[in-house]
Amino acid sequence: NLTQRLAKVVKTMRGEARLTEANTAEMLREVRMALLEADVALPAVREFIAKVKEKALGEEVIGSLSPGQALVGVVQRELAALMGADLGPDATQLSFAQQPPAIILMAGLQGVGKTTTTGKLAKYLKEQKKKKVLTVSADVYRPAAIAQLESVTKQVGADFFPTTANDKPVDIAKNALDWAKKHYHDVLIIDTAGRLGIDEAMMQEIAAVHAAVNPVETLFVVDAMLGQDAINTAKAFNDALPLTGVVLTKLDGDSRGGAALSVRHVTGKPIKFAGVSEKLDGLEAFDPTRMANRVLGMGDILALVEEARKGVDAEAATELANKIKGGGKFDMNDFKAQLTQMKKMGGMSGLLDKLPAQFQQAAAGANMDQAEKQVRRMVGIIDSMTALERAKPELIKANRKRRIAAGAGVQVQEVNRMLNQFEQMQTMMKKLKGGGLMKMMRGMKG
Ligand code: GDP
Ligand code: MG
Repeated sequence: NLTQRLAKVVKTMRGEARLTEANTAEMLREVRMALLEADVALPAVREFIAKVKEKALGEEVIGSLSPGQALVGVVQRELAALMGADLGPDATQLSFAQQPPAIILMAGLQGVGKTTTTGKLAKYLKEQKKKKVLTVSADVYRPAAIAQLESVTKQVGADFFPTTANDKPVDIAKNALDWAKKHYHDVLIIDTAGRLGIDEAMMQEIAAVHAAVNPVETLFVVDAMLGQDAINTAKAFNDALPLTGVVLTKLDGDSRGGAALSVRHVTGKPIKFAGVSEKLDGLEAFDPTRMANRVLGMGDILALVEEARKGVDAEAATELANKIKGGGKFDMNDFKAQLTQMKKMGGMSGLLDKLPAQFQQAAAGANMDQAEKQVRRMVGIIDSMTALERAKPELIKANRKRRIAAGAGVQVQEVNRMLNQFEQMQTMMKKLKGGGLMKMMRGMKG
């Protein structure tokens, strides 16, 4: 597997100061294989490799990293950026920027999860955004599809606009819109028919629906299991409709999710949501970094790189100490660095007796495995924050907490707990400003 193959390459050629054509060639071949194995379409793979090459060449190899390890860092960063990490924190938000009702049009092939996702979105908008939601089915080819939408809509307690197989999709959309206006719905979600393959008539039909009601969001729903075909489907829908975003479904399956990269390559549109279960609560805000790691299959590789970074920790400690002495603020990035460092230094048990008393008390009696899991979860929560939130944790109010909790797959209470711990740490850091910090860090390492 990739991890084993990369592990070999990653260690070679230690001591080189920069990434070059020569010392990255073999690694890039492995990355290319990994992407193809994850079912990313070839044109998307090519573009990505070219981009990584461009970014990597000349990059300094810091500390005790090997060029291979430095390159893995570049690959991971670039893939996350391509998945949308560089689009900013609002990329996964739905737009309501129009006179209500805001219309959401669902597009995609048959069986990808449009109807299910309509139900999930209705639930999310109703519960998280306090919106009054109406759904309607323009899938007039399969009466069962209309009944299916009615059923999921009722399950989530939203309103359903009934239609029959004799109605025309454009009329359905217009009638539902009139109804939504009259009954003060905030959002109208229009579910549509899909075919098994791309089909001219289907494209014209959904384009006509789009033209008739001018949706503020046109979401392309795509199955993460779709593989190489994703690129052609995405292209056809992107050409026919002004897409505003993508929903990647069935991520709970065992696919590596290469479709995500293919779809980003073709549409350039943000992936807003991930479908992670057949159930109606199985919808998450899309997480570019997590997706990048999944596509690369490189959780273990990152661990390997971390291993090598241990040697750089002394530098990191000095940097942190300087930052704090210089009056810099202790933020979430610093907190994460500390948590990660704890993890590396032989886990919690080895660390406990070196920690300040208040942390010892907190950990006393706790199961050590449990405590280590806790640290991992805390790091997961920080990873779900945006760069802005990490730099200014004081911005994290109720809405952001909910999003972060959803992103990290934890309860909001856990985010609160984590923020409290961060604040304690921040207070302690202020006290340590006088220079005790380096001593403490050295002590912890000893
Ligand atoms: P549509 O034809 O695009 O409307 O697709 P449906 O919403 O009817 O979904 C097709 C099938 O995929 C159904 O069996 C759904 O339960 C299933 N499905 C949809 N989304 C997900 C998901 O995120 N995870 C899993 N495991 N199944 C899903
Ligand atoms: Mg359907």
